[in-house]
Amino acid sequence: MQSFEFNNPTKIIFGLDQENKVGKEIAPYSRKILLHYGGGSIKMNGLYDRVVAALKDEGIEFVELGGVQPNPRLSLVREGVDICKAQGLSFVLAVGGGSVIDSAKAIALGALYEGDVWDFYTGKETPAAALPVGTILTIPAAGSESSTGSVITNDDGQWKRPVNSDLLYPKFSILNPALAFSLPKYQIGCGATDILAHLMERYFTNVEHVEFTDRLIEATMKTVLHNVPKILDNHTDYDAWAEVMWAGTIAHNNLLNQGRVGDWGSHDIEHEISGIYDVAHGAGLAVVFPAWMKYVHKHDLDRFVQFAVRVFNVEQDFKDKEETALRGIRALEEFLMRIGMQVRLSGLGILDDRLHEMARKGTQNDTITLGNFVPLGEKDVYEILRLAI
Ligand code: NAP
Ligand code: FE
Repeated sequence: MQSFEFNNPTKIIFGLDQENKVGKEIAPYSRKILLHYGGGSIKMNGLYDRVVAALKDEGIEFVELGGVQPNPRLSLVREGVDICKAQGLSFVLAVGGGSVIDSAKAIALGALYEGDVWDFYTGKETPAAALPVGTILTIPAAGSESSTGSVITNDDGQWKRPVNSDLLYPKFSILNPALAFSLPKYQIGCGATDILAHLMERYFTNVEHVEFTDRLIEATMKTVLHNVPKILDNHTDYDAWAEVMWAGTIAHNNLLNQGRVGDWGSHDIEHEISGIYDVAHGAGLAVVFPAWMKYVHKHDLDRFVQFAVRVFNVEQDFKDKEETALRGIRALEEFLMRIGMQVRLSGLGILDDRLHEMARKGTQNDTITLGNFVPLGEKDVYEILRLAI
């Protein structure tokens, strides 16, 4: 295990009706905020009205900016930055999923910066200040509710890029599992896939002697594997949603990568897919992760065997490690299909005509590598995309 310092400062407020506390939670930070949300699900399920009432109860003034799209766009972020600057807003409240939260974080960065907020996503600038952000989560998936990340798509050129900074930990995140009841089946599957992907990115490491975090990751994966089918059978199963929502936060709040180095190549490759084709992040990951596994499994067969046996309970072939590893990968694919995901690019309607372009963009013309478990150059990324077709 490597040395580490761990501090995740996001206050988690978990349980039924907890969104009614949002005004009280914001009050110590600000009296005038940006209320940021997506395409309208919060208006349809009544959450919007409850949030507005809770803000009014505390006398918190708000300016609204809705319309965040999945794969949140830079153009709306810039609009939010302008509103915050023009109206002197000092807090951003995100009500929604990872897209709304990431957009809110981007606005929070841009509001205290003179230049163009995209500078943080190209790596030209390192974040030095951000407005405080709070969230009310409506979909267990991205884990952005207690992560340092924000991923934004530049409408101009289809570049989807992340920034990470401790400044982007939300001050608080409200997790009411019942807010997820209104999710469509497809989004449930996409969210579950992203949670599993965050766990697998951390699991496939070259750092040795990481038994405790290995076992925590395995337990978190098993919790997702056990409860997501229950949710798909009954969308209002509060107890199953509670397990998945908390697992989704823990999967990405950095607890599970302490003392180890995760991979993240599959996320980087997925960003090239959703940047161009605007598919859901989870949908892209369901395609990329199995292909990535098929490409790299020989690098550490023992780790893939452990994954297969401990997470998916596959029967171990004691004479043939690779066979056991491949059974684990197949078990993952079968689970993803069972929860409604496509596991090939062709299933998403994506042809093979832009694979070279994605591999080139992702590796910046083969000048950088993606991932840590096996560093991937342009040719490797292309081969993984080909396996995914
Ligand atoms: P999302 O893009 O925020 O939301 C997906 C869809 O679900 C939207 O159409 C949304 O509709 C709908 N929805 C959300 N909650 C709902 C509810 N309770 N009822 C009905 N519909 C609901 O999904 P996400 O997977 O959370 O976020 C994906 C983004 O996060 C991607 O851009 C991905 O790259 C990024 N990401 C970020 C991190 C990070 O650490 N920052 C990590 C991984 C992924 P409305 O718009 O109408 O609400
Ligand atoms: Fe993700």
